[in-house]
Amino acid sequence: MRIAIVNVGSIVTGDLDHPLVAGDTILTADDRIVAVGSAAARDVETCDVVIDAGGTTAIPGLIDSHVHITFGDYTPRQQTVGFLESYLHGGVTTAISASEVHVPGRPRDADGVKALAVAAHKCFAHYRPGGMRVHAGSVILEPGLTGNDLGEIAKQGVWLAKAGFGAFASAYDYAPLIAAARAHRMITTVHTGGASIPGSGAITGDHLLALKPHVSFHINGGPTAMPDRDFARVIVESDMALQVCTAGNLRTALMCAALAERHDAFHRLIVATDTPTGSGIMPLGMLYTVAHLASLGGIAPERAIAAATGSNARVYRLDTGVLTPGKAADIVLIDAPEGGTQETALAAIRNGDIAAVGAVIAGGEPRFVGRSRNTPATTRQVRVARCSLSRDFSTSRH
Ligand SMILES: [Zn+2]
Repeated sequence: MRIAIVNVGSIVTGDLDHPLVAGDTILTADDRIVAVGSAAARDVETCDVVIDAGGTTAIPGLIDSHVHITFGDYTPRQQTVGFLESYLHGGVTTAISASEVHVPGRPRDADGVKALAVAAHKCFAHYRPGGMRVHAGSVILEPGLTGNDLGEIAKQGVWLAKAGFGAFASAYDYAPLIAAARAHRMITTVHTGGASIPGSGAITGDHLLALKPHVSFHINGGPTAMPDRDFARVIVESDMALQVCTAGNLRTALMCAALAERHDAFHRLIVATDTPTGSGIMPLGMLYTVAHLASLGGIAPERAIAAATGSNARVYRLDTGVLTPGKAADIVLIDAPEGGTQETALAAIRNGDIAAVGAVIAGGEPRFVGRSRNTPATTRQVRVARCSLSRDFSTSRH
């Protein structure tokens, strides 16, 4: 399928170094972006679908790097079906598993956690609920696992490892397994802050600096934050990614963002929700945290969006999250919400409003065009201007 998005008001790239780009048109072919900014009239005419953005703002599909995936589009934690599809209506086109720890009766032995990670990874390899790309299969590091075990599942495609829920006496005991997971090219993540699951202990700056994961998972707490003094140490004394989560401590999320800016480390700040959890299902969680960073933290909206898109993609080595030719065709049109006080999506975000989502293209296919079922309506109308396929992507505006 070839898609042209025309009449775009502004383009937010997701790339922190160049967060805005001039132009009004984006073209995709199959699952790739092929042009951003401008395109020849002929190239637009030959597209299968032309979407009139109506002057709204294009951003990359949001990447939620902390989602509690289990199997299928179901969360046992909140007993809800269809949550991933609902997140897509909040502009999220990629979800990354924070380990399948919510699977009821989940195994704790080495063979069990290996099997769980491999099964989850393979179940989501081609299954896209509502169009959502899900990276599942994050092995829960438990005592008894060996480097060879990690090598075995890495061969099966598992590339995510999670420390924090294992039955270790001390969090420092994760160090050899994190090093082994790194050696097998896995992205390693460590729960940060107070315990979220009874029996798991607090993990603070000393632990993070000793364990050296790629990502401090919910550095602002999941949901309980580590001591304030540890944030600057992690920023200055390591190069790990600083994941701020919606379902965490808001004050320390904003403090972390300010510290990251001060220490020239904002490229390491990545946004996620850490849901579904006890905090609930938050289809608009990514948009909330982007609005919090911009309105309360004074971060430019396009930089907050980059933290929720391109920066996540860079840390997790994903081929999406940036609007540039060659990247995955994951594109979201957002606008100032209807009835608000602001003129544009970026102004609304700076004002603390939740941007209205007018269309989501994921994996090179429009998943809906017109109205998200979860956000307010856009101020400007996004519509399918032409479609030569016998498919209807439009959702009713009211
Ligand atoms: Zn979590």
